[in-house]
Amino acid sequence: MTRLYPAGMPTYDYRCRECDAQFEVRRSIADPVVAELCPAGHPETSRVFTPVAVGGASAPAAAGGGCCGGGCCG
Ligand SMILES: [Zn+2]
Repeated sequence: MTRLYPAGMPTYDYRCRECDAQFEVRRSIADPVVAELCPAGHPETSRVFTPVAVGGASAPAAAGGGCCGGGCCG
């Protein structure tokens, strides 16, 4: 039997509300949503929605010191 995993199975970040530990859970989208235990075994955990880098105000690409900063882009 071949076990097929969908490519790029998403990982979810969870945080324990008891010990504030943050951990990652990898599961299929098709899996039912169940409570995840923190590494310490606490059941009081909640999903953490990590913000995806979407060109915010702190984009490092705009920092100086690049090629143009050195004057080689004449
Ligand atoms: Zn915990």
